[in-house]
Amino acid sequence: MTRFQKSLSEKDFVVTFELVPGRSTRTRHYREIVRFAEAVAEDGLFDALSITDNAGGHPALAPEALGRGLRIVCPEPIIHFSCKDKNRNQIESDLLALDREKLHTLLILTGDYPRYGYRGRAKPVFDLDSVSLLRMVSEMREGFRLPPEVPGGGLTLPPVPFFPGCVVNPFKWSEAETVLQYFKLLRKLRAGARFVITQVGFSARKFQELLFFLREEGHEGIPVLAGILVMDLRLARILHRGAVPGITVSERLLRTVEREAGAPDGGREAALRRAAKLMAVCRGLGFRGVHICGAPLDPVAARELLQMAREFFPRWPEFLPEFAEHPAETFFLYREDPENGLNRPERQALSPGKARGLLYHFSRFIHRCFFSRKSRLFPYLRPLAERVAASALEKHFTRLEYWLKKGLFDCQECGDCVLAEMAFLCPQSKCAKYLLNGPCGGSREGWCEVYPGKRRCVYVRIYERLSPEERREKLLRLELPPRNWALFRTSSWLNFYLGKDSTGPRAE
Ligand code: SF4
Repeated sequence: MTRFQKSLSEKDFVVTFELVPGRSTRTRHYREIVRFAEAVAEDGLFDALSITDNAGGHPALAPEALGRGLRIVCPEPIIHFSCKDKNRNQIESDLLALDREKLHTLLILTGDYPRYGYRGRAKPVFDLDSVSLLRMVSEMREGFRLPPEVPGGGLTLPPVPFFPGCVVNPFKWSEAETVLQYFKLLRKLRAGARFVITQVGFSARKFQELLFFLREEGHEGIPVLAGILVMDLRLARILHRGAVPGITVSERLLRTVEREAGAPDGGREAALRRAAKLMAVCRGLGFRGVHICGAPLDPVAARELLQMAREFFPRWPEFLPEFAEHPAETFFLYREDPENGLNRPERQALSPGKARGLLYHFSRFIHRCFFSRKSRLFPYLRPLAERVAASALEKHFTRLEYWLKKGLFDCQECGDCVLAEMAFLCPQSKCAKYLLNGPCGGSREGWCEVYPGKRRCVYVRIYERLSPEERREKLLRLELPPRNWALFRTSSWLNFYLGKDSTGPRAE
């Protein structure tokens, strides 16, 4: 058991603290991180320190390097592990390296889109999404079984005792984004996440909505830590501008922080009080702990914050009106409790599917006729496909397929078509992170994190096209495997009939 795991199983309430490494180990910031870790370790202030992985899409010191350096003073930090910068082989190498260093507590996330790097923007990799990565880590926990066709095939590798967690962003204001976040969370739990940390936010009702949802879906026992932001004026301005995907700071909250910053201490005390009150509220709502972000690397401030939160806890309902930071038109999954502004356990009705054009209906018809194993045509077309695949026609057939699909769907020639699962919207061309199992947490007002105001999040569009039953089927029950690059630029139509794509295991 890792120390964090032990705390989760033994303590009522756990507190973790996020460290954000910079681009050098020779700066004052790095020395401050090390001094802070040493000081808080002496007091045992936190149950774990967590270390971010190229946070905000910027290059930084690798979390395992800092984790290794801190291990003497802070055993078993939580290592953030994102999908943005590595392909699956590099991910596996890094996981093995983490095992070697005895760093087993992982916070698995999709990751922010890379912003910049040496001589320009770095390539966004996203070879796996967070669901596939959690599945991979879970399989490593059991001991990887190597498939027969690879070197060492048939072998089972020794299990690795990872303790993986995941993130969720409950601070979404529209129905589609809210439901999509929660569906993705369920997929992550099914793929093996053992704990959950939320994005930071300031809406108590949204925090509670998440707990209601998990309880309703039978996951009441999963430990959930609420993300708590200690926010000074500089940070509030950055977040208000929308510069950090997935975090919203309203005009009203920004004005409050500006007023507070006029105090002789520059707003330090007020920022700590707000965070401490929200910690108390989250504890009162039933969270198993909190994850503190954005706080100064100052052990005195950390002690003050924890002390205040303990003192505020018995009075937590008093602070609820201070944490109603959501737009007036916000969608909530549950009806409002007028007594306290939180939720009642009755669900709101969800919107029916809409926005289905002619292309959607036409594509669905073609799919049912030609690309379903239940279709009457399947037994006749299969031998034909085998003949085409074995002949010189294969090249021309593949070109024809992509010429058609490029025009209709902006197809990227992955060779393993998932259009039917995605309401006929291609995730390879329409999702900046190529995600196959639900959205990242970065969309804002339905816009993609990477193209705000220009491109809508593809998952919001998929959600709008599907009926409530189809959403549960396609956006929750299904788990799509990562893209198989061996199929790149081969015919997905032939692959379907030859059983080479992933539609077979997806079971019709
Ligand atoms: S399309 Fe949606 S899921 Fe994909 S990167 Fe943009 S916001 Fe994230």
